[in-house]
Amino acid sequence: MTLKEKNVLVTGGSRGIGAAIAFEFAKKGANIALNYAGSQQAAEDTKKAIEEEGVTCRIYQADVSELTQVEEMVKAIESEMGQIDILVNNAGITRDSLFMRMKESDWDDVIATNLKGVYNCSKSIIRAMIKQKSGKIINITSVVGLSGNIGQANYSASKAGVIGLTKSLALELASRNIQVNAVAPGYIETSMTDSIPDSLKEEMIKKIPAGKIGRPEDIANAVVFLASDEANYITGQVLSVNGGMYL
Ligand code: NAP
Repeated sequence: MTLKEKNVLVTGGSRGIGAAIAFEFAKKGANIALNYAGSQQAAEDTKKAIEEEGVTCRIYQADVSELTQVEEMVKAIESEMGQIDILVNNAGITRDSLFMRMKESDWDDVIATNLKGVYNCSKSIIRAMIKQKSGKIINITSVVGLSGNIGQANYSASKAGVIGLTKSLALELASRNIQVNAVAPGYIETSMTDSIPDSLKEEMIKKIPAGKIGRPEDIANAVVFLASDEANYITGQVLSVNGGMYL
């Protein structure tokens, strides 16, 4: 599989799963537009590692929940790197609490980043993809968008929303040679899951048939496959990468 000369925008690419996705694309020869919100040093470190693969990597600061910032970022990428062939909507946040205690701002922030962010990025790029007569969009949802989870009503709703958006866009864009799919990670070792207490982590691992936590690279491999020509007839799907945690 080669993705040589393809331009890929990865949102939330500074660290965690997004950084692993960007790195895996670079290994396949793709050029990377790396978006981040606040972690500039992490974005620069990831850029350096990516460039060692001999591809171009540029970093773009923008808050995906803000349409005007996203539009400006997309314009800058197109003028500096050329057309965007692949969009990976990966940026995401959690603001966990039981629903009874969930503040309106925790609800709004999570929906704005995780769901509206996917709208903003897709909306800003889709017209160009239609003109190009090709494109791939891969959205990072979550196992809890399928199963629900205690303490994550906002996050689960945002990720279930991403699945509905993925399927609807896939239907609207299939005839334009644009494939839209989602990857649903299970429990993956990143800073998002670092804060979970060890005792709770052990309980969670017991519920994973594979008997272990996933790595960011496990998600990256699935994303790169869906972005490849080998997946040209796959659209509107949710690929679970969760060690059997939820079937
Ligand atoms: P992470 O380590 O916390 O990284 C999140 C990334 O998103 C960072 O690069 C962050 O950039 C970026 N980001 C956050 N808000 C943003 C915004 N408004 N605009 C642009 N970028 C923003 O999280 P992760 O674990 O890698 O998660 C990546 C994706 O996988 C998320 O969508 C998450 O919901 C999903 N997921 C993760 C797991 C898991 O177990 N880890 C499971 C299922 C799904 P800055 O650092 O610059 O702010």
